Amino acid sequence: MNLGRFRVRPGHKVKLRRYDPADTRPFKNEEKAGDLLTRGIERLVALQERLYAQDRWAVLLIFQAMDAAGKDSAIKHVMSGLNPQGTQVFSFKRPSDEELDHDYLWRTVKALPERGRIGIFNRSYYEEVLVVRVHPEILAHQKLPPPLVTRDIWNERCEDINAFEQYLARNGTLILKFFLHMSKKEQRRRFLKRLDHPSKNWKFSAADLDERSLWDDYMKAYEEALSRTSAPHAPWFIVPADHKWFTRVTIAELIIEAIEALQLEFPRPSKAQLEELARARKRLIAER
Ligand code: ATP
Ligand code: MG
Repeated sequence: MNLGRFRVRPGHKVKLRRYDPADTRPFKNEEKAGDLLTRGIERLVALQERLYAQDRWAVLLIFQAMDAAGKDSAIKHVMSGLNPQGTQVFSFKRPSDEELDHDYLWRTVKALPERGRIGIFNRSYYEEVLVVRVHPEILAHQKLPPPLVTRDIWNERCEDINAFEQYLARNGTLILKFFLHMSKKEQRRRFLKRLDHPSKNWKFSAADLDERSLWDDYMKAYEEALSRTSAPHAPWFIVPADHKWFTRVTIAELIIEAIEALQLEFPRPSKAQLEELARARKRLIAER
């Protein structure tokens, strides 16, 4: 699978209409991709064990998308089989009153993955340049001192996010960011499915239609954010999302590629530790 095409090159000006949400290359159908996903998940399980044993790197996976793009199901599938002790998922909702009394990264810092673990953000501080940008009334509620709210605020936020991610990377966090790119047509189909199937009704919220009506504004906000915040140490990937099976296998492969590049090895015992292990073995054998 050629993974390079999903990565947003730093400084590249993203035009989302140039990315096909229905792309499934090189697969014709789900069957072939299914084998790769199964093997991918096995590889990921092995990599996670090393990550945990080494206890040096943390992995942060950020998922952003429009409603019904399949964030939840991608997270569920890709993380299946991983050791729950080594993973943590955070879903970022509308900030609470307490959270609004702080800067917007405050709640993020508390949710960051520890060394040795894989942390997943289902939505993230990127909402601060997405939903907040599309809805000026949300910004108005953020209690910012008025002189700080200027036309530059979105660029400034992107700058601050870049600096924050640079800081995390320099402290040993591998950051990967996924935008699940779904077409407006496919969202309509999925919403209708939610209305048609009683077992899916709970997933539907009328407010989702209001956001849908702001589709073009959201796409513009995404384009700006993706263009300004993809960095070598924190790349964005635009993952086609009209076919859920393709989204899953692509995300799994991208995560594997990035963690493999860390070349994680199980920690090697020192000479003193080896001697201690030998003594322990002797003691256990002597027990009989
Ligand atoms: P689902 O796909 O299951 O609906 P969801 O991620 O959409 O999951 P919801 O509870 O429906 O979860 O929505 C969370 C809402 O919180 C979203 O509308 C999102 O835009 C909003 N939100 C997240 N972070 C912020 C933020 N920093 N400021 C304002 N709104 C935010
Ligand atoms: Mg929702």
